[in-house]
Amino acid sequence: MAQLRQRLRSAGAGPAHEQRVLRLWAHARPQQAAKRRIEDFFPLSLRAALPAIEDELAALARIASAHAGEDGERLLVALADGQLVESVLLPRDGLCVSTQVGCAVGCRFCMTGTTGLIRQLGSAEIVAQVALARSRRAVKKVVFMGMGEPAHNLDAVLEAIEFLGTVGGIAHKSLVFSTVGDPRVFERLPQGPVKPALALSLHTTREALRAELLPRAPRLSPEDLVAEGERYARATGYPIQYQWTLLDGVNDTPEELDGIVRLLAGKYGVLNMIPFNAAEGLPFARPSWERAAEIARTLHRRGVLTKLRQSAGQDVDGGCGQLRARAVPIRIQ
Ligand code: SF4
Repeated sequence: MAQLRQRLRSAGAGPAHEQRVLRLWAHARPQQAAKRRIEDFFPLSLRAALPAIEDELAALARIASAHAGEDGERLLVALADGQLVESVLLPRDGLCVSTQVGCAVGCRFCMTGTTGLIRQLGSAEIVAQVALARSRRAVKKVVFMGMGEPAHNLDAVLEAIEFLGTVGGIAHKSLVFSTVGDPRVFERLPQGPVKPALALSLHTTREALRAELLPRAPRLSPEDLVAEGERYARATGYPIQYQWTLLDGVNDTPEELDGIVRLLAGKYGVLNMIPFNAAEGLPFARPSWERAAEIARTLHRRGVLTKLRQSAGQDVDGGCGQLRARAVPIRIQ
């Protein structure tokens, strides 16, 4: 965003003009008449530069392909340099955005993790995914759960969050920062002017299994992760969303369920269980929906608020990273 602001200033924009241009962009599809009325008050140099600036903003994120599904529309988004990321339009005006091309965490059940990190997204590229989605329909909630680990691109993601929570018009609790549990997140998030809600990728209560499934996640034990989450939830008043990709025969055992009850019963949070989205080359299976529903009911009975969610894009074969993997074939180790 800093580069973008600098670009506007060098075209003659004062702080108020700058905010207006960025607001129009972030909200997408302004009424042409209203837009012209606003621009009438801009300095001449800015008016002259605006068409080129608007082209540059549009080039930050373009739709390479769109894939409709029952539970959301997946967009394969081309960035200005041709790199591809994914955004998902979720039910109830939600949008899932990517924060990196590829990802260094290497989760064993995720297609994005197979490539390693390719590059970081700039904050403007993250906001551009929201502007792009808003050109199709309303966006009132943004979750940072697409490609990438937001904590590994922390400055850019926090900048995007601050922008979206102010100029971008998204309620703070409707911005959801997702992480595998980087300690820097617990230091930085409470200090920001816009405090997002927090989602923590738990996936198992067993430390050794978590190290296997999330090989390059910080070595925070599940107990410490939940303790940090609980602190943040109490400080902000937003419940933590604990993410759990349900892997058949791996993290759906009776011991795991006991571990979940031990860690999460009575905590200020909700457990989101998402049955694994089967992908060619990944060595896991998806449990049946009936089995997953039974697990969710059992946990609920035992005091853990549990929501069972369909993987977004399951029916269009597009779990996280799969659209990009099909567009850019990769070799799985
Ligand atoms: Fe990265 Fe998230 Fe995929 Fe793990 S699940 S490899 S953190 S994108």
